[in-house]
Amino acid sequence: MIDPKQIPDDVLSVCRRLRQAGFEAYLVGGSVRDLLLGRSLGDFDVATSARPEDILRIFGARFSVPTGLQHGTVTVLAGEPSRQVEVTTFRGEGAYLDGRHPSVVTFAATLAEDLSRRDFTMNAIAYEPQAGAIIDLHQGQQDIARRLVRTVGDPIQRFSEDGLRPMRAVRQATQLEFEVDASTLIAIPATLDAFRKVSAERVRDELLKLLFAPCPSRGIELMRQTGLLAEVLPELLATLGCKQNRFHKHDVYQHSLATLDAVPAEPILRLAALLHDVGKPRTQTAQPDAPGEFGFFKHEYVGAEMVEAIAGRLRLSRAETELLVALVAHHMFFYTPDWTDGTVRRFVNRVQAERLGLLFSLREADIASRGRGEDPECETRELRARIARVAAEDAALRVKDLAVNGADVMRVLGVGPGPQVGRVLARLLERVLDDPALNQKDTLERLIPQVASG
Ligand code: ATP
Ligand code: MG
Repeated sequence: MIDPKQIPDDVLSVCRRLRQAGFEAYLVGGSVRDLLLGRSLGDFDVATSARPEDILRIFGARFSVPTGLQHGTVTVLAGEPSRQVEVTTFRGEGAYLDGRHPSVVTFAATLAEDLSRRDFTMNAIAYEPQAGAIIDLHQGQQDIARRLVRTVGDPIQRFSEDGLRPMRAVRQATQLEFEVDASTLIAIPATLDAFRKVSAERVRDELLKLLFAPCPSRGIELMRQTGLLAEVLPELLATLGCKQNRFHKHDVYQHSLATLDAVPAEPILRLAALLHDVGKPRTQTAQPDAPGEFGFFKHEYVGAEMVEAIAGRLRLSRAETELLVALVAHHMFFYTPDWTDGTVRRFVNRVQAERLGLLFSLREADIASRGRGEDPECETRELRARIARVAAEDAALRVKDLAVNGADVMRVLGVGPGPQVGRVLARLLERVLDDPALNQKDTLERLIPQVASG
């Protein structure tokens, strides 16, 4: 049952206006599924018999934007400033020739045709708000009640048509905490060829949504069992069975999944947690003094290089890549009370202040996931307090906080621009991190010739 009161008035009014103009209009897709599940609602999708030009005419240029005309999609600004309703003409589809895109998108005459091209039964239910009617031609409600992700029609055929669908099945099962129906699940390894043709951007979007789920490790396990993980993150697969040492109860793979589940739901933090030890298999070395135990010297730096390559493959943005690489590269810090204030400032400078919160979340999840019952805050508690103290002193933590700049260095040395200028500034910062009192213009200018020749 769907209670129309749960649907925002402005969304209902979009359907009403289409109806009043003589067209059919239904809520479809994820919003109907989520209404039936009692989940909080995201975007609303409307399917209609109106053609894009009709939709634009009915809502007018100020309130409708042709966002995907080749797919028949018009975004209607429904009233509430933040709410956009995607209104799409009933779609049918031509043959998929490349496993990625239908060769032609055709408009369909009926709702039934539109529903039959949707991916999963739970996403193929329509709701007509005026009559309060649910149109469910593929037993979607039954699958929702059984908490099952099942393709509309033959899974092998549907996955071969669009290779992203297996990844959507795994992502939605993880997000909704559903199972994937057995015949849908076994179609995934059988159609990996189609999956390999999908663009990296579409895969990345599904992966990041999967990582956002309440228990994302389930999705990674589903990916592993179906062969998707070997396609998307083969580096992680290499951690399976990688043995550690007395500090760890789990192999590297199980530890990575536990760390993933333990960090807050921030997309890049989750990805960093999943991949933080990805450098371990390549650095694993037997410990001569402890038979059966292994060390992983500098695995965080090997891992940082590996995640940079992974980020490139997944087409992450530059800012996302830098954050991911920094979190992996810096995750192995060992605070001890004998750190001087200079050591603390150098640590902040290396990590960068705005990343400390995420890095500490990762470190705490990492320690908690060793499975040895350690205090997860043993590395971070005191260090947080020390950082707060040095931050309150307002000392210079980066080159741009120095009392001199590149122009000053060039003037004092009588040189032009070049790599030497950056080197001198970096050395001055080293001095200032140790002794903040040096950060005065005349003091630093006196130091410039000295650090330049050193
Ligand atoms: P979410 O909660 O993530 O938004 P959703 O089911 O709404 O879930 P969307 O990506 O917003 O997912 O897609 C909207 C609808 O479009 C789906 O419910 C489904 O009916 C249909 N759909 C989306 N992608 C595909 C696809 N690759 N193949 C077939 N149908 C699809
Ligand atoms: Mg949606």
